[in-house]
Amino acid sequence: MTRARLTIDLDALAHNHAVLRADAHGAEVAPVVKADGYGLGVGPIARRLWAEGARRFFVARLEEALALREALAARAATIHVLDGLASGEAEPMKAAGLTPVLNSPREAAAWGSAGGGACAVHVDTGMHRIGFTAEEAADLAASPPPALRVELVMSHLGSAAEPADRRNALQLSRFRPLRALFPQARASLAASAGIYLGPDFTYDLVRPGVSLYGGGPHERPDPRLRAVATLTAPLLAVHTVAAGETIGYGPAVTATRDMRLGLVGAGYADGVLRAAWRGGYAFVGGRRAPLVIVTMDLIGVDLTDLPEPSPGDRVELLGAHVQLDDVAEAAGSVAHEILTRLSRRAERVYVGEAA
Ligand SMILES: *Cc1c(COP(=O)(O)O)cnc(C)c1O
Repeated sequence: MTRARLTIDLDALAHNHAVLRADAHGAEVAPVVKADGYGLGVGPIARRLWAEGARRFFVARLEEALALREALAARAATIHVLDGLASGEAEPMKAAGLTPVLNSPREAAAWGSAGGGACAVHVDTGMHRIGFTAEEAADLAASPPPALRVELVMSHLGSAAEPADRRNALQLSRFRPLRALFPQARASLAASAGIYLGPDFTYDLVRPGVSLYGGGPHERPDPRLRAVATLTAPLLAVHTVAAGETIGYGPAVTATRDMRLGLVGAGYADGVLRAAWRGGYAFVGGRRAPLVIVTMDLIGVDLTDLPEPSPGDRVELLGAHVQLDDVAEAAGSVAHEILTRLSRRAERVYVGEAA
């Protein structure tokens, strides 16, 4: 019997890509496919996005870039590596024709020493994670290492999912003069959420990740986007648990009434976060069923208020009816983490693969 199954719908990916492209105010959409395409498999994801017209991709690490280059075979994409150059990475990056995103003067010097060529520069405008400070960027623009060709200047927004947050305007006001230091370069500020801050934020190129995969730009379900990842598993058994009985490990869950409990053949080892048990739900027989317990291999759902299901029915744990952003909220997390935790144990099925 097929236990947990992860279906990856590349037609939904293409749909989301088209939505973002239509909303990007004319900017190029450069998909972010780091962490193995947000856990969904970088090869099928990137090949389908290429078929949809994407020609430039972002990953985080050298290894991810090499895997993407291999997956794209003869397709001559521009591949940017967001985390820049760790020591010793300049040579392999050049050899694979990758375009690093330089995050510090040390990385700029290393890229220059390796012969330089095309690169991007990340300037920090207020997220305080990585990137050149304003002073360092001015120095780089004034005296760049020989042979450094800055083709893209970019920054990253810390609060774009909250359009009213003052940090958005602050980061934009800081980005403007930094971007002007590199007048020959294209500019990029927005990820998924930033696209929806309006045309001041989209510049030449946008870098969506999560919304390509169905996560709402504002961290709540967005009806225009389709679910790319669907996780289902069979209903293995249905029991009655008497009021007052304790369910699963430890004392946390006690039936407050006679409960019809369904056991589903998936668990946190398939990528359903254990933290989602409180407030999370599954979908079975056309209805939502609250999660009761999440263990490594089995999930308990409350079927008391649902029509009698049959063992063997498939239960959706993530997908069109169990929305990514709802799962993230229940787990106290973000859609990005829910996707990247989907494990390799669930059987994977791709729909709509590019030739
Ligand atoms: C991960 C990342 C993105 C994509 O962000 P989403 O929220 O998934 O759209 C874009 N830019 C940078 C620098 C990132 O690290």
